[in-house]
Amino acid sequence: MNELRFNVAALLKEPTGASRERVIRVSPTTIGDRTLMAPLQGKVKLLRIVPRRNQAGAVLALGELTTAAAAECSRCLAAVALPVSFAFEATYYPQVDVVTGRAVMPHQDDLGFDLSANHELDLTEATRQHIELALPMQPLCSATCAGLCATCGRNRNLERCQHQAAVIDPRLAPLQALLTPDTLREMV
Ligand SMILES: [Zn+2]
Ligand SMILES: [Zn+2]
Repeated sequence: MNELRFNVAALLKEPTGASRERVIRVSPTTIGDRTLMAPLQGKVKLLRIVPRRNQAGAVLALGELTTAAAAECSRCLAAVALPVSFAFEATYYPQVDVVTGRAVMPHQDDLGFDLSANHELDLTEATRQHIELALPMQPLCSATCAGLCATCGRNRNLERCQHQAAVIDPRLAPLQALLTPDTLREMV
């Protein structure tokens, strides 16, 4: 995931408001525990800022990214690729003053990230968090997924089983009884 890392040493030496635009295109890979099924792509703007009570400055990353994440259908457990598109902003603080080389007081921003000691900004963790936030709590392979049979575990999208009656409207149960394998055998 090197393509999500940028050295911002030069940017940190520039005046507040200086910025860089970077195009992001990372081949399908994993991010945290999540497998990506499509390239992670988009753009990020890196903006030199000076947050309050922080003399060493910081870099605000404003990103817009798309990808597709691998997930499991919450009903039938089939593997699905879910398109994800999100915008994010994340603030990165230096640990070392880029001009003096001295250690900087740790930042107090709970949502902020650290730059590496050599002023590398790594978007990986911010990207991972936003992909997880963008995914549905209960992914589905399709809105009409019939799920697994609670009794025998068969995938109802692929095959029928004798437990189908359990989900049939009780008013239709007498009709369903006519269609069980036993009745069909008797009819032959
Ligand atoms: Zn499904
Ligand atoms: Zn069943």
